[in-house]
Amino acid sequence: MVRRRTFVKQAALAAGAAALARPERLEAASTPAPIGIQIGAVSFVDEGTAKVIEGVQEMGGVNTLFVATFTYGRGIAGRQPRGSPLPDHGAQAYDDDFRGGNFTTPHPELYRKTSIAPEKAPDHAGYDVLADVIPAAHGRRMKVIAWFEDVFRRDVPGLDQALELDVHGKPGSRLCFRNPNTRQFWLALVEDHLRSYGELDGLMWGSERQGPLNDALGASHGEGARPSTAACFCPHCLEAARGQGIDAERARQGFLALERWIGGMKDGRKPTDGAFVTFWRILVEQPEVLSWERLWNEGLRETYRAMYEKAHALAPDKPMGWHVWHTNSFAPFYRAEQDYAAFGKYSDFLKVVLYNNCGGPRLARYVRNVSSTLFADLTPEETLRFVYRVQQYPNEKPLDRIAQEGLSADYVRRETARAVAGAAAGLKIWPGIDIDIPTGANEKKTQPDDVYQAVKAAFEAGAHGVILSRKYSEMRLENLRAAGRAVRELGVA
Ligand SMILES: [Zn+2]
Repeated sequence: MVRRRTFVKQAALAAGAAALARPERLEAASTPAPIGIQIGAVSFVDEGTAKVIEGVQEMGGVNTLFVATFTYGRGIAGRQPRGSPLPDHGAQAYDDDFRGGNFTTPHPELYRKTSIAPEKAPDHAGYDVLADVIPAAHGRRMKVIAWFEDVFRRDVPGLDQALELDVHGKPGSRLCFRNPNTRQFWLALVEDHLRSYGELDGLMWGSERQGPLNDALGASHGEGARPSTAACFCPHCLEAARGQGIDAERARQGFLALERWIGGMKDGRKPTDGAFVTFWRILVEQPEVLSWERLWNEGLRETYRAMYEKAHALAPDKPMGWHVWHTNSFAPFYRAEQDYAAFGKYSDFLKVVLYNNCGGPRLARYVRNVSSTLFADLTPEETLRFVYRVQQYPNEKPLDRIAQEGLSADYVRRETARAVAGAAAGLKIWPGIDIDIPTGANEKKTQPDDVYQAVKAAFEAGAHGVILSRKYSEMRLENLRAAGRAVRELGVA
């Protein structure tokens, strides 16, 4: 009895301390668990707003719409890309002419401090997804969170004045987080969303990118090794390095050494001392390579912080959080840079991507990528076993099966528990659950039981909500219904 009272008292003190630090979180704690779904403008246009909202609510137990408001990518907007079958709802045609941009109504006066043009997406002329969806969703007691991501096209006007510069001094394809045009674009978009749509319930942003060392190594499930485009060496980043006493020239020499090391192995010249020892020698000789990786991550974290502060200055009670890229599940290098405790300083929630179906083929691709660089001394199967050990997945399948069979619900459970345990008090963890994310011809396809088990695993491990991903326009309805069955059985819907 005494012990229990002591525990309750300590818990109350801890909660009190958290409340003093973050008063806006008290209210959030009493709201129901978000059962979210990511959804793009095309679904409302193709199928009818009321019908879609009622459908996802009834089938999936969904109570929060994560509406894609800004992207030039096919991942969260547009219909199913060609190459994958169209689902059993929506227009039965591919939208090959997709362009993307801002799916709301951008207000140009807010973007005066950035060179990047606030383009309205031409895909649905005259249609403003938030103006349409917010009243319809609120009418059914559903919340709407604006969901936007760091994905551009090279032909966006003004983008050329915000690009990273690579190790050879050439403009890259992505935006430098320290470039004022980039920073001001994101801040303007946050302001535009919150000022123009006063009834909006929150914001989520995602950037699926990593630093120059990880990029050079190809340490993700995406593109392979890209040492020649390691970035950023723009004047803003060089100035930041000077401020921290980091020798940019030594960093550059280190990245050039990485390029020679990877290029040699690609041409079949394995170093006499082996791949790993040679890599480590580069790091020891030019530790500035690691400093440059850290510097890049600081640029991203400063962006998170600035967007969070802007959002809370305008709307203190509305949650702002981040989509955490799937590479977090595969690469210990990227994982080390996603410190859940540190996120608590500038986040109300995290959508930790825990897609276990497409996770199988994606993990196989990660293993293939690093097997040609850092782990070239090992067989791919040995590299996968190393991944399972250091990422702490004891119950997953061998390499010849994961692409076809995916990862397990146990992976979802373990990664949810790790995020909940690592997060600062008050930081909500809303795992991303995958439904019909496209995979290759002979690769794992989502089945209803996969969704049911993954949703259950997430909540059993302490998730504060879930986000069905990555877009309604590619989901089959029997899989969505399986999510609904799980949340109703759990009593969280
Ligand atoms: Zn830069």
